[in-house]
Amino acid sequence: MTEKRVWCGVCEASCGLIATVEDGRLVALAPDPDHPQSLGFACPKGTSFGDVLSDPDRLRHPVKRNPDGSFARVSWDEALDDIGARLRAVIKGHGRESSASGWATPTRGTSGPSSPCSGWRRR
Ligand code: SF4
Repeated sequence: MTEKRVWCGVCEASCGLIATVEDGRLVALAPDPDHPQSLGFACPKGTSFGDVLSDPDRLRHPVKRNPDGSFARVSWDEALDDIGARLRAVIKGHGRESSASGWATPTRGTSGPSSPCSGWRRR
């Protein structure tokens, strides 16, 4: 069993955590008392994230909805090509202002129209 210093990426607080790892698997997360910013604080979301990681229902790859409502696994290339084609169709049909984008946590803060990321649709 080893302990590794990590940080929580759920929100911008980026609290320091100690991850206990056994045979390559995460078995526990605890607040890091020596983290210079979070000073031993972490909320239950961060310390419970091992449950999310090991949840059997966790989405681990892109999926696409079938007409009957079920989902089928697709590749990342297929998913991104499909999303890009749909966005291009919306913008072509309704103009550039018909779509919006936003980035928020984990750990990225919130990006709005003044963000350097806001120019991506102009390319
Ligand atoms: S432990 Fe809680 S407060 Fe800290 S980064 Fe994670 S979600 Fe945010």
